[in-house]
Amino acid sequence: MSILRQLTKRILTAFVPSRLLLTRGPRHAPNKRPRLALTFDDGPHPLHTARLLDVLCAARLKATFFVVGKDAAKYPALIRRIAEEGHEIGNHTWSHGDPVMTSPRDFLGEVHQTDELVRNLTGGIPRSMRPPKGELNWTKLTGLWRQGKTVALWNIDPRDYRMSDTGEAAVWASRYQPGDGDVLLFHDNHPWAIAAIERMNNRGVFNEYQSVTISELIQQEMPEMRPVTSVQATASTP
Ligand SMILES: [Zn+2]
Repeated sequence: MSILRQLTKRILTAFVPSRLLLTRGPRHAPNKRPRLALTFDDGPHPLHTARLLDVLCAARLKATFFVVGKDAAKYPALIRRIAEEGHEIGNHTWSHGDPVMTSPRDFLGEVHQTDELVRNLTGGIPRSMRPPKGELNWTKLTGLWRQGKTVALWNIDPRDYRMSDTGEAAVWASRYQPGDGDVLLFHDNHPWAIAAIERMNNRGVFNEYQSVTISELIQQEMPEMRPVTSVQATASTP
């Protein structure tokens, strides 16, 4: 990515609310349990997604799956299972085409096509969208915003698609230092995320950090009801 594009991305993510463009979730209140979002791209995959769902279920973790429409159409039962088990389904286009070769019109058409499929399968339309490779131009970005989408990028990338065995995934997971609001990018069309999640779970990451979906991560906290105000008012009364 060019320096200019990196800079544009940094400026955008600094000033645009996270419900429109997310790379990392907002910091949580200091007295609350910190949170992180596990995200899985490029599925569903008949073997890896099913095994991953078993692992998430056993560890009681919630995640977001950015699904490719044409594969979702091939494995509808997995899409229903993802939704039924309380995970969030995000949109990752229909064909996962090369962003440079895909016009804004085709791109937005693919997003709509995937939305419709997910709606037919689960009754809900994905609120979050992740463009393939995180690549967007202004027309695509504003088009997604007009559709009410949260464009969900990430701030932690283990590059699991480049790994070659479970040992590599476990090493990454042993070294990962979690931060409040982290959005982790994994891929469920590869097997390695499963070992990484298991290792993170075994070392107690999810005892300290709550694993939440993208929508949960960006939800603004309701301001607390304040008996504090009345206490202050009372205290200031002479
Ligand atoms: Zn992808």
